[in-house]
Amino acid sequence: MGSFKLPLQKNTQMQFTELHLNASLLKAIAEERFQTPTRVQEKAIPPILAKKNVIVSAQTGTGKTAAFALPILQLLLDRPTPEKKTKRIKSLIVTPTRELCLQIEANFKSYAKHTDLTTTAVYGGVSLTPQKEILKEGVDILIATPGRLIDLHKQGAIDLRAIEIFVLDEADLMLDMGFINDVTTIESLCPRKKQSLLFSATIPDKIVALSETMIKNPITIKINPAETTAKTIGQLLYYSPKKNKTDLCLHLLRNTINGKIIIFRRTRIGVDKLEETLSKNGYKVTSIHGEKTQIIRNKAIEDFKNKKATILIATDVAARGIDINNVDAIINFDIPNIPETYIHRIGRTGRAGKSGIAFSFCSPDEDTYIKTIEELLQRPIKVITDHPYPRVQPKKQKKQPNTISKHKKGRKSEASKKKKKRWY
Ligand code: ADP
Ligand code: MG
Repeated sequence: MGSFKLPLQKNTQMQFTELHLNASLLKAIAEERFQTPTRVQEKAIPPILAKKNVIVSAQTGTGKTAAFALPILQLLLDRPTPEKKTKRIKSLIVTPTRELCLQIEANFKSYAKHTDLTTTAVYGGVSLTPQKEILKEGVDILIATPGRLIDLHKQGAIDLRAIEIFVLDEADLMLDMGFINDVTTIESLCPRKKQSLLFSATIPDKIVALSETMIKNPITIKINPAETTAKTIGQLLYYSPKKNKTDLCLHLLRNTINGKIIIFRRTRIGVDKLEETLSKNGYKVTSIHGEKTQIIRNKAIEDFKNKKATILIATDVAARGIDINNVDAIINFDIPNIPETYIHRIGRTGRAGKSGIAFSFCSPDEDTYIKTIEELLQRPIKVITDHPYPRVQPKKQKKQPNTISKHKKGRKSEASKKKKKRWY
């Protein structure tokens, strides 16, 4: 080393080469252009390699998939005996949605591309037959949604008796979607003696209870959200009246925000309204919310991923768990009333070490939400006052001799027209 290292955290950053991974995996990691492990990978990979049971919570976008996929591949590569006949499933990953299944499958496949380990995914909404045929050929790693897995098992198409590593991914979402009984059933179909891993953005009490019945002596790893968001994501707060939020959004889209953007709204009606306005204004926009069918939602995500649309408007529920890369900015058009939701939303930008920026629009009725978010972050969010739609200071200013009484009704629109001229 030619230079001195200052005792800064950055310089103590762990390298992938320190994680005792096989050369074929390191090669794939390099091809993914991952430079260093993320915090959750740094913390979770060593105990998983040591065959411990682990429970991991870290916000969306922190790289949890590779945190289990890499050590699982390594453990399977370490196994002594190559199989003579058909492969048996040695690792099972259960995840709540089809999108997640496909994403995790794609990740496993790219990390394993220089090995002969095989991966497949099974999920509902498509024909059973092709999935059965692939399973017949044998596979090392299976990724599945709960319902489809149970169906296939009932039909005798899946043998779970050789499972060595069992993973529950996005456990909180699984719980929200009502899969808890299915998950218990699936776990009981696997051998008793196995390594169990649970990954989740949050660990509500119900997950604690579930894990206690299912996972023996786990090591718990919790990545503090405030710690991971603070560094890479710029956060800006705009105070604005509710009625001006759409104009503020258009203003920022025209002047300030570039690239791929996700806009979060609280309700599906809000999503639809904003989508209409933005597309009228010439933006390539798409949207997802709970009232849309799976097919339409998949199409929207595809369009956004391949840049047919540069703006995706979403409700929190519809957006959960979906890995969308390279988002340059997110807009909190509505401020979430649950502070953790804010963390999840902003985790969409600046993913895994990339820089990103989050814009939040706060109307007077949302001030308390900002307060609780700032408490969770343990710091204030930077306020931008220099924009054309600020909130008028209540009361105090009324006493000042100005034009308010004169123009009562006309004042606002005239002022905003003027401002529009100035800004647009
Ligand atoms: P989570 O499950 O925590 O929401 P994902 O596993 O979906 O997060 O990962 C989020 C994104 O980060 C993915 O696009 C993934 O390819 C990327 N990623 C994962 N690990 C790294 C890393 N070490 N360096 C850079 N990017 C990474
Ligand atoms: Mg995940």
